[in-house]
Amino acid sequence: MHRITLGDFELSVFSDGTYPLDGGAFFGVIPKVMWSKKASADENNYCPAGLNSLLIRTGKENVLVETGMGNKLSERMRKFYGQPAKLLDNLSAAGVAPEDIDIVINSHLHFDHCGWNTIRDKNGKVVPTFPKAKYYAPEGEWRYARKPSDRDVISYIPDNYDPLVASGQMTLLRGGEEIVPGISVTTFPGHTASMQAIIVQAPGENPHFSQQQGEVGHPSGSGGVATACYISDLMPTTAHIDLTWGMGFDLYPLDTIASKKEYYARALLERWLTVFTHDPKVPWAYIEQEESGKMVAREASPLAGGGTVRHS
Ligand SMILES: [Zn+2]
Repeated sequence: MHRITLGDFELSVFSDGTYPLDGGAFFGVIPKVMWSKKASADENNYCPAGLNSLLIRTGKENVLVETGMGNKLSERMRKFYGQPAKLLDNLSAAGVAPEDIDIVINSHLHFDHCGWNTIRDKNGKVVPTFPKAKYYAPEGEWRYARKPSDRDVISYIPDNYDPLVASGQMTLLRGGEEIVPGISVTTFPGHTASMQAIIVQAPGENPHFSQQQGEVGHPSGSGGVATACYISDLMPTTAHIDLTWGMGFDLYPLDTIASKKEYYARALLERWLTVFTHDPKVPWAYIEQEESGKMVAREASPLAGGGTVRHS
């Protein structure tokens, strides 16, 4: 269990399982001789991809960022991706029931990010999985999802969001909004035009990081602000932290690079904890830049002795 406290907030990662992604699509124009040093592929060139959701307990609300792949995939989609569907079981094992979730935030509306937003009831009707939750998603993303391009139409499953928008249970975001004190969204274009990162800054006079098993990762900046960011598909894994290592899926690859620069300008300076949506092993890490310019993901785990995952 990955858990960390940030001021008065408690953050934990819950997985919906892993699924196979074609290595070429996962790493775009990066040659396999390079990416295969960081990610292992099977005989069909599939790499395991994680489905990491972030649960933020603020003390007042339980906020769930991203809802994995869910359990409503078509037979054809299941042939490609399987359907691990483990998120509810993993939440339940930690004592979190669907009724306990107050807020759900989707960074964008691809099927592997909002799948558990809804489920089918016993009559086959699509209903909210988290009945009491207020849902949030980027407005631009929802508008695009109504008329996607031929290239990515397969990535959108309207049952994951349209019923929630129609019922008023989902609020659409412009970017920049604070959803509850300390939790806000910022648009980072590249993967899609309107994808939003979720930024968590615990309110309070002297926020600090500490981990269950021991104290780690004090912000190195003098500001004393501790921040975590669910950066979603802008950097899906620790293997994607170099500026030019984008996914083949990205609709606007040059915007991905510009957004990463913008992110690093803030995140490196203030030592943000970056949460990786698709990393099967390292769901969060501190990203640092070595003198050579190389980006390095430093795991936020005291058990690893401050161990460093190197990506050259
Ligand atoms: Zn995506």
